[in-house]
Amino acid sequence: MKTLSTIAAELEGYDPQALRADQVSEFLARLVEPVLEQEQVGIFQALGRVLAADVISPISVPPHDNSAMDGYAFDGRQLQSTSAGSAALILQVVGTAWAGKAWQGSVAPDQCLKIMTGAVLPQNLDTVVPQEFVSVRPELAEGRLELIEIPRGLLQAGDNRRRLGEDLMQGQPALKQGALLTPAALGLLASLGIEQVAVKRRLRVAYFSTGDEILSLGDAPREGAVYDSNRYTVFGLLTRLGCEVIDLGVVHDDPAQLEAAFRAAALQADAIITSGGVSVGEADYTKLMMKKLGDVAFWKIAMRPGRPMAVGRIDRAILFGLPGNPVAVMVTFLAFVRPALLRMMGSSQAAVPLLKARSLAPLRKKPGRTEYQRGIVSQSSDGALQVSAIGNQGSGVLSSMVQANGLIVLHHNQNHVDAGNEVDVMMFEGAL
Ligand code: AMP
Ligand code: MG
Repeated sequence: MKTLSTIAAELEGYDPQALRADQVSEFLARLVEPVLEQEQVGIFQALGRVLAADVISPISVPPHDNSAMDGYAFDGRQLQSTSAGSAALILQVVGTAWAGKAWQGSVAPDQCLKIMTGAVLPQNLDTVVPQEFVSVRPELAEGRLELIEIPRGLLQAGDNRRRLGEDLMQGQPALKQGALLTPAALGLLASLGIEQVAVKRRLRVAYFSTGDEILSLGDAPREGAVYDSNRYTVFGLLTRLGCEVIDLGVVHDDPAQLEAAFRAAALQADAIITSGGVSVGEADYTKLMMKKLGDVAFWKIAMRPGRPMAVGRIDRAILFGLPGNPVAVMVTFLAFVRPALLRMMGSSQAAVPLLKARSLAPLRKKPGRTEYQRGIVSQSSDGALQVSAIGNQGSGVLSSMVQANGLIVLHHNQNHVDAGNEVDVMMFEGAL
């Protein structure tokens, strides 16, 4: 466990009064560590969890070469035989292989096997012609045997064959430690016959809102006060991440109440998220209490929205002291807290990839800070992505977060953007 000053000393050009967004990410990556505890869970409980150990494939999937189509299986070498010239290949049907039942018997050259999708391919048969390409030739039938005709030039040897182990090979890692278990991963586990997996224990995250002007739901509205929205967006963001949430309510600007809240949070949680009370000139006790109880740094980040942020440790819990403005809370969460929590969860997931979209209008931007503008990304008529920034970018305008489907990321050194130029966008899907 590194102290904040150790990490600060490791970072080149660390200036808490003007920290770049990439330095914040770097700092947090050094500060947080993955939880070690793990548990066994059934497959239905595993969705969204982080795999604690590699899953080695106990079997090969598929377990045999099999047919990808309903059709006729034959030895593909006959497709190359030049003696047949351009005449169609005529084969005798000697039986039918059904899925789930191995066909017993041998198939000679000039013969084929009617085969169903998923049925095991007998050893010397490597090619399947889909039934719709075949003409059945009753007039060529000799006795009770059926003959089929396969046109030339249609197939190559090996076509429509699924190979043994082409999905997963026995003994190979099917899923790696740190994988976030998605619906596809659950299916993959099931395809291996695996019912239980070792996952990292859930992260416990406690959160509360601070500020004397903050009303709890149910309170009567009063002059100058606003309803607490941050606890609900934070609840949603954490729940989507699969964290166990500990809601400590609204904490008023009272040293005893704040101390009790921080202590309760640190006792129960791996991480603490607060909102409000960290800006410069803030007259309340939030910063004071953070300083008293923990190893905490107070930053001014070169970003918009969301300049002030407190980060550190209270006992063993990681503290993320987010600004109070509702949009700033969400943006700092997405940009910094989410990746840090994923790391704590043991996830090896890389950052959400940024996409490129054409800006429909010019964007004003000052170099020297990272700006996250709420945007609506859509597909233009030529198929490329385009984005328009939402009109009101005020950091308290939560409705713009609801309207937006992503953030336009204007990087630290970037300047104004002309209409038609490409910008990076971070899509919400998956995170929100
Ligand atoms: P602060 O960072 O405490 O100065 O707060 C900045 C702005 O965000 C102020 O207008 C606050 O009223 C508002 N704010 C702070 N906390 C919350 C909250 N939990 N819900 C809604 N708005 C808040
Ligand atoms: Mg305040």
